[in-house]
Amino acid sequence: MQLQSMYQDIILDHYRNPHGRGLRDPFEAEVHHVNPTCGDEVTMRVHLDGDTIADVSYEGQGCSISQASVSAMYDLVIGKSVTEALGTGEHFMTLMQSKGDAAVAEGLEDELEDAIAFAGVSKYPARVKCALMSWMALKDASARALSTSSEAN
Ligand code: ZN
Repeated sequence: MQLQSMYQDIILDHYRNPHGRGLRDPFEAEVHHVNPTCGDEVTMRVHLDGDTIADVSYEGQGCSISQASVSAMYDLVIGKSVTEALGTGEHFMTLMQSKGDAAVAEGLEDELEDAIAFAGVSKYPARVKCALMSWMALKDASARALSTSSEAN
């Protein structure tokens, strides 16, 4: 099987059967992010247990890349500390800036799990924002959640 078509299958699978979708309680922060160039939207809630991401719940609409990206991200961040999760987000950003460089993708394969399937998207600058929207929303929501929980203490 061609790598490219395997990646395509992973993205479509997350799009059709999104992991963790739905808005849940409790949560410390909720954000709404849009990618106006494509019409993608996501509403995301983050629930922290200390500085560990206990839950990320979301609803969204838009293209398959944007929605599959939230689902793949969900699998990567639950149970991680905010710092670790945002570190993974930085690596995903590196992948999205790789312009299809296979060596970059290879080096990130273990850490990014299914999210490595977005490697092909990095060749299409117009679609990179679709894939990054979920991670931008996570960064925003977890920063707000951390400041809410430190105010409460
Ligand atoms: Zn899109």
